[in-house]
Amino acid sequence: MTLQEFLNNLPETDKPVVSIFSGGLDSTIMTYALVKKYGADKVYTLTYDYKQKHRVEMICAGITNELLKLNHKTIDISFLGEINKDFSNLTDDSSIETPDGEKVIEEKQSTNYIANRNSILINIAVSYAETIGAGYVFYGAQSNDIAGFWDCTKEYVDSLNNTFALNREHQIKVVAPFMGMWKTDEIKLGKELEVPFSHCWTCYNPITVPAGGINHTSAIRPCGKCLSCRKNASIQRIKYGGPSLCKRLIKLNGALNVVNIIKVIIVVFVEHL
Ligand SMILES: [Zn+2]
Repeated sequence: MTLQEFLNNLPETDKPVVSIFSGGLDSTIMTYALVKKYGADKVYTLTYDYKQKHRVEMICAGITNELLKLNHKTIDISFLGEINKDFSNLTDDSSIETPDGEKVIEEKQSTNYIANRNSILINIAVSYAETIGAGYVFYGAQSNDIAGFWDCTKEYVDSLNNTFALNREHQIKVVAPFMGMWKTDEIKLGKELEVPFSHCWTCYNPITVPAGGINHTSAIRPCGKCLSCRKNASIQRIKYGGPSLCKRLIKLNGALNVVNIIKVIIVVFVEHL
């Protein structure tokens, strides 16, 4: 699918649109596409703080929001991380170790899953959309996620839309524009959109590199082993024959905090997308 075909498939609207924007690869490419289609002043992004272990993605989302000058909110739903700390490895104080991606890629549901997370994210986004007069909420689920996540399927999105259509005053539709696409096709769109991939975070288990060197800055790098890293590595190997998107390092000057995004320096070691 060409970029133009993809953009033509997005619904027409003059109203604002809401993007559920984690700062990961999918939602970053999606947000760039929404800006291309509707204009930056129409795109309202929502980022959720659910005490995820990979909070660095929130910083990446902040960088993109600043670059594109988007309307943005970060919503604190840290209760979700608290509920899930003994259930999912994705929370920052989880008692569960992050599994090797190769071992769980075929699993029906791994510990990378947070209980009913996507329903919570989407419901909050729909609530927000109603308050700002938006008609659409965009959600970056795609085909590669279906194997492990029931809440990334077309049936799931259709079912939610049947519920939201019951609203008598303001019907909001959830749109998952990457549904039915593969990651490789999505990345091609990202290239056409000139998405700076160094501003996306794609690892569930960031590794902190101790402070040192000339600048005495601490840094964070992808683990290279989790499900997200394995997927990205295999995409790179198969499709592009190049090194992994994971081989990069985010250097931090200051605490890992969305407030400090201005102080973040991103260093890309290898990027052949
Ligand atoms: Zn990883």
